[in-house]
Amino acid sequence: MPAQRGGSRPGRPAARAATVAGAACALLLLLTLAACGQPRPHCSFTEAGTCYVVEAGRPSADALHRAREQAEGVWGAGVLSGWTVRLAPATDCSASSDACALLDEREIVIRWVSPCSLALLIHEAGHAAVGDPHHLDPRWAVAAAAMVREEHRCREALDEEDG
Ligand SMILES: [Zn+2]
Repeated sequence: MPAQRGGSRPGRPAARAATVAGAACALLLLLTLAACGQPRPHCSFTEAGTCYVVEAGRPSADALHRAREQAEGVWGAGVLSGWTVRLAPATDCSASSDACALLDEREIVIRWVSPCSLALLIHEAGHAAVGDPHHLDPRWAVAAAAMVREEHRCREALDEEDG
């Protein structure tokens, strides 16, 4: 025989409690649906209209901000607005170089090898801005120089951290 719990009995009071609970759940469900109503990618965070999806690495907000600023310096303010920047595990990319990135529809995928991989954003932002798969725009040279500078600065900072 099942144990009775708390001396509760079936009857009107219990049924009424269940109805109130049901209403509360329905309200909660509505609120939840309202919150989920707008389509959104699973951003780890957003900044200035850019959705960042962090699947690999632990980028500091400072590093992301700096990479973005440099990208905007070359390609114009808001160049990454409306784009998703995905930091993916290194296995997501088959290139043999120690850094690579992919451009998908409104999404830049950066293979996370080290915090210095973020420098790639300066280059990829150019594809976001002008497409130009053959790198004919004269600003690619500016972007390349900025990328080299940023990688250098980043490596020095990492060396200092290592002692
Ligand atoms: Zn390119």
